[in-house]
Amino acid sequence: MYEKDTPFLVCPTCGEFGILDVIYDYDGVSRVLTKESLLQSDYHSIWRYLPLLPVEDRFIDQTLKVGSTPLYLANQLTNKLKLKALYIKDEGLNPTASLKDRPSVIAAVKAKELGKQVIACSSTGNAATSLAGNAARLGLTSVIFVPKRVPIAKLTQLQIFGANVIKVDGDYKDAFRLSKLAIEHYGWYNRNAAINPFMVEGKKTVSFEIVEQLSFQPTNWVAVSVGDGCTIAGVYKGFLEFQKIGLISHIPRILGVQSSGCSPFVDAFIQNRGLRETDENTIADSIAVGIPRNPVKAMNAVKESNGSWIAVSDQEILEAMALLGSKEGIFGEPAGVTSLAGVKKALSTGLIKDSDTVTVIMTGNGLKDIVNASKAVKDVICLKPDLDSFIDYMNQLQKEGTV
Ligand SMILES: *Cc1c(COP(=O)(O)O)cnc(C)c1O
Repeated sequence: MYEKDTPFLVCPTCGEFGILDVIYDYDGVSRVLTKESLLQSDYHSIWRYLPLLPVEDRFIDQTLKVGSTPLYLANQLTNKLKLKALYIKDEGLNPTASLKDRPSVIAAVKAKELGKQVIACSSTGNAATSLAGNAARLGLTSVIFVPKRVPIAKLTQLQIFGANVIKVDGDYKDAFRLSKLAIEHYGWYNRNAAINPFMVEGKKTVSFEIVEQLSFQPTNWVAVSVGDGCTIAGVYKGFLEFQKIGLISHIPRILGVQSSGCSPFVDAFIQNRGLRETDENTIADSIAVGIPRNPVKAMNAVKESNGSWIAVSDQEILEAMALLGSKEGIFGEPAGVTSLAGVKKALSTGLIKDSDTVTVIMTGNGLKDIVNASKAVKDVICLKPDLDSFIDYMNQLQKEGTV
């Protein structure tokens, strides 16, 4: 156990993968964070949960508005998948369009509190863009290490937010290693979620919101896509802490979903062994993580919640993307809809039952990667501008039953 102002490091006895865990005075918090206090909160952002966040209130009024994203009851999908109820938490509506704004805004505020001017991280994309945006908003400088395969929209976002972008000739593993060395060398504030224990504190707020939005009666299952494992660890911690302060009675079963092109957690779970390095071979770039940096807490989240792990193919991810878009009007990036593809698959294997209620956390906006999204849809044909051609085409569409 360390005091709150300990400069964070991973646990000296557990080593590289021993990310520290933030613990609060839950008795004390349960007196100030109540259903009534939440109803009266002026904040429609993650700051409504300040008693359970590791920051002071000094800078919170200056940040981008992060959180308070919608939770939709997905009417069409609920019917189509034959479930009791399916909810979609649309994290693509955060300010830089992914769930990563939740941890990044904490990082930016922390850097301000500590008087650091430069903040750095390595990322497959969204952690980077969210850090760059949140840093810009607070007048900080960001240095961002990205792997070579970063999608163009995410790279452009970084540039627009004025980040110093270091594109590393290699994959995410290489970008992570270089960032670690550089951050140590220059003494910058480190936003790498796999080292900084405060990042999970931002991520857990997604669960707080889900609980509030479901009137303190969460669904049986919550599904989330997994790369490093920090998000799923945060999702679990959110439910656990709301249980600790008496706001919910049970924790939903957590379904961790990966792409079969990069599924170290699922492989370890199925073969009942430790994690092994895998290739990073999937269109879901945000979860293409061959050496997950948060294995202990991610495995624990599934185990303690009596959840499970499942892998889906890139094809299933693309199908889920088209399904979510066409049935609910929500556009997710590949990693964002991997969770939904996992739910569909878990229904077909009987893991999730049609009597279950499910929340899908849709982690990132589809506009971040339109190159892959375009693979999920049919080409649009170009018509001659006359009514006869149009009528021919309409006949064809009517035959196909789309109009
Ligand atoms: C980062 C990210 C994830 C997975 O989070 P991890 O902490 O790496 O497991 C899932 N989806 C999107 C869109 C992400 O950006």
